[in-house]
Amino acid sequence: MKSQWNDAEAAQHAGPLGLRVYTSRLLGRDKSLVLHGGGNTSVKLREKNLFGEEEEVLYVKGSGWDMETIEAAGFAPVQLAYVRRLAALHALSDPQMVNELATHTLRAGAPAPSVETILHAILPHKYVDHTHADAVLSVSNSPDGAARARDIYGDKAVIIPYIMAGFDLAAYCAREFPKQARKGTVGMVLLSHGVFSFAEDARESYELMIELVSMAEKYLAAKKAWSVGLPPAAANGFPREEAAQLRRDVSQAAGFPMLCRCNDAPHFLSFARHPEVQRLSQGSPATPDHVIRTKPVPMLGRDLGAFGAAYRAYFERNAASAKEPKTMLDPAPRMALDPGLGFAAFGRNAKDTRIVEELYEHTIDVILRAEALGGWRPLEDRHIFDIEYWDLEQAKLRKGGTPPAFAGEVALVTGAASGIGKACVESLLKRGAAVLGLDRNTAIETLFNRPDYLGMVCDLTDASAIDRAVTAGVRRFGGVDMLVLNAGIFPSSAPIQTLSTESWRSAMSVNVESNLLVMQAVHPLLALAPRGGRVVVIGSKNVPAPGPGAAAYSASKAALNQLARVAALEWAKEGIRVNTIHPNAVYDTALWTKEVLASRAKAYNMTVEQYRRNNLLRTEVSSRDVAELAAEMCGALFAKTTAAQVPVDGGTEKLV
Ligand SMILES: [Zn+2]
Repeated sequence: MKSQWNDAEAAQHAGPLGLRVYTSRLLGRDKSLVLHGGGNTSVKLREKNLFGEEEEVLYVKGSGWDMETIEAAGFAPVQLAYVRRLAALHALSDPQMVNELATHTLRAGAPAPSVETILHAILPHKYVDHTHADAVLSVSNSPDGAARARDIYGDKAVIIPYIMAGFDLAAYCAREFPKQARKGTVGMVLLSHGVFSFAEDARESYELMIELVSMAEKYLAAKKAWSVGLPPAAANGFPREEAAQLRRDVSQAAGFPMLCRCNDAPHFLSFARHPEVQRLSQGSPATPDHVIRTKPVPMLGRDLGAFGAAYRAYFERNAASAKEPKTMLDPAPRMALDPGLGFAAFGRNAKDTRIVEELYEHTIDVILRAEALGGWRPLEDRHIFDIEYWDLEQAKLRKGGTPPAFAGEVALVTGAASGIGKACVESLLKRGAAVLGLDRNTAIETLFNRPDYLGMVCDLTDASAIDRAVTAGVRRFGGVDMLVLNAGIFPSSAPIQTLSTESWRSAMSVNVESNLLVMQAVHPLLALAPRGGRVVVIGSKNVPAPGPGAAAYSASKAALNQLARVAALEWAKEGIRVNTIHPNAVYDTALWTKEVLASRAKAYNMTVEQYRRNNLLRTEVSSRDVAELAAEMCGALFAKTTAAQVPVDGGTEKLV
């Protein structure tokens, strides 16, 4: 492991707190040091208060901030002298500790100081860096981990046995650190938890962390426990309906819909097929704080019943000896190892599933290296339970608030690169759905850069292209709960006698047959949707009120309308609702350029403004209006409605 320090980059961060921000980000950049909210850093500064009195302030990472992206605002300034005194108390409950830290923070609106704040306070050095480095965890979770750590570090690091983070750990270190620290001590190893480094200078403290971790890496390499590649396993195709079935079962066990992200890359697949996967995977996470995202262990295979029973037993065993009464969390897994699917991560949103996958990717390395060192030694599950059911960790989760309407659900939108399709993607994302957007326009791929969106170029007249796109969507999100059939074309106007068969066929192909192909591909997934499948068809006012010169368009949309009605009849028994929206005069789409709009208005002897509002309500209809209704049709308001056809057109006189 090498230092990433760069003078030019460092120069952009002014002052001692600026450098604290910079080196925290350097640590956060390396996923083998810290992952997603893990680890923390601090700096002790002397500052003048409003009365001109100097006081020592500890700037410590606030909870809810990731090291990789932390800013100065992500550090909570606490009164150092006061916090140090806390460490000498005989006891301090978690709520008391939270209260003391909050009431001795010097900036209104600062984030809650890290639960490891008191530990940072008792270390005498100006800069303190703390990570959960993979290499250190591999060493400490192997036979004689403590002795090995002493071998590696000698006087360089104080070795602390596993104690849960918080007051007890800080109080222990406050007593032990001064006793054990020697002249050359630059770090502290917390067995089965992580490692600290410290110095008077930001760069030095950071580079000491790199040095300490490198020492563990070299030790592993010397023991032939660093490169631990498993024999490569090859996936035998992705069984997408099995993945959707698994997602449905997990959602049922959880009591709410969850996404499922599958990964059958060799790293995961080989581990899932490891002959000793049972022993290796069913111990504990690599470091306890993963548990709030991953649960203690992955489910092996797809046996939800066995997983739930084991989870209940774990809860009852440990809750019995807890200080205060605990309420059991849902018994659904957050990850699974399966010889067919590889690794599956479950979560209420796409970001969570990605985090779970990343945590376990590193966990596999930690486990295999410890195993190569003589045997993976997981932490006892009572310690894992203490973290999973620790009120302070639960508070982090509660902070999320009520989940949005479509949390844990997946939508597929066709023709999603522009106009109504793009607006539908936005409306669905806004409601918490993960969205798979398909379009033949390559802009679809980069339409949104966020974990809950996957854009794929797809020719919807090609069944195999649809198949590939749907499979990619299921790999990423686990299924399809909502289908918005929006893609369509509007061939140029022509009276029937001169209508080309080419024009007619392309309208039928794109507006009817493509939708049939998508419906056929997606139907098994809709049938497995945890809350029932929903289909919204973007029809047209032309269905009830066709116009002259648009035979191909009107006939194709009418055929699609009939297709949707039959789907409503056929799929109702599987709980799938199929409803249609008939928009009209939606002019904010790519179809309607300024010129086209002006020429159409002129043809009707109207101004553009009059033409835009040429309906009963004299109102303008936007893509967003249509998209919002499409999203609502997938929601609770329409839970008992299927085969409905709802106009969004401002009112059409001849249809009243
Ligand atoms: Zn920690």
